[in-house]
Amino acid sequence: MSDVRAMVQTGVGELTLERFPAPATGEDDGLLRVEACGICGTDVETLGGDFPLAAPVIPGHEPVGIVERVGPRAAARWGVESGDRVAVQSDFGCGRCRGCLNGQSCDVQPGTYGFMPTRARPGLWGGYAEAMYLAPGSVLHKFSAETPARIAALYNPLGAGFAWAQAATGLAYGDTLAVLGPGQRGLACVIAARTCGAGRIFVTGLGSRDAHKLELALELGADVAIDVEREDAVERVRAETAGQGVDAVVDTTPHATRPVIESVQIARPGGTIVLAGIKGRNKVDGFPSDDVAMRYQTIRGVRSVDYHSFRRAVRLIESGTVPVERLHTHEFPLEQAARAVRTLSGETGTGAISITIEPGL
Ligand SMILES: [Zn+2]
Ligand SMILES: [Zn+2]
Repeated sequence: MSDVRAMVQTGVGELTLERFPAPATGEDDGLLRVEACGICGTDVETLGGDFPLAAPVIPGHEPVGIVERVGPRAAARWGVESGDRVAVQSDFGCGRCRGCLNGQSCDVQPGTYGFMPTRARPGLWGGYAEAMYLAPGSVLHKFSAETPARIAALYNPLGAGFAWAQAATGLAYGDTLAVLGPGQRGLACVIAARTCGAGRIFVTGLGSRDAHKLELALELGADVAIDVEREDAVERVRAETAGQGVDAVVDTTPHATRPVIESVQIARPGGTIVLAGIKGRNKVDGFPSDDVAMRYQTIRGVRSVDYHSFRRAVRLIESGTVPVERLHTHEFPLEQAARAVRTLSGETGTGAISITIEPGL
């Protein structure tokens, strides 16, 4: 591999094509030839300037590709060899501290692909590129060669589905669940919960914007889709659960704070509420904390995805037992990374759910 083409974010809303020399690698690191990079709401916030960024940065934290080069010690640690198709976890670190071992941020040397400035050597820290550097503390998940890279790229939303809808809620067989927001992670929560043997699953969305997603949620195993523009989510869930509410709620909605308040009424007494949707800087006005106390509810915050949830996502994708590919709607060449992000946000195009940026297109 000679020069590497990459899209560099130089400022708010600005992505420009640049070339980088392919970095040297040693015994402990490697190089990924990027095939597909998934994008999410964080990419929208990053490009739009709502997420702090030490530009210039090569964004892209959900990459899948082929191991182009790997040092012998890294190969042994990661269980991969050159030529393997792998997904890379966005967070990396020392691999040994408490944070790393818990699948959270590293306490010692935290790093996140897609957020490190290009001036930090060797510069290729993001998935919007033909190649990405694999730092020694990276965590890789190997895919079978038969899994298309584009579908493998769903490891991120699906990993979140298992982490948020199951691991964070403690969802048990037959438990009922409400997923607020039908974006790719909301839909992934439906898939994960259905896979785990959930009881009734409710999904909410905005009919004017999310009709295709609500329909897909039903196809993927949700039992009730609620258009919150037409009916009250709290009333509907209560009506369908003998007035009790559900065992667990996952709020994946971005920006809106009303779903946080509604979660308290949608969850049953003793139920669990997982807050996953990032609200920008919006604070929740009128939060009914007394109700949480009176109802003995548990509220948990989540951001990323733990190792085991990623493993489950990879196995589910490889199994072919669930039509996870229905989540994938668009792919764009590297040069059109900005258009990919604007399509995901709904600023342009229609019907977006999960989108990849693919240097090979
Ligand atoms: Zn993401
Ligand atoms: Zn660490």
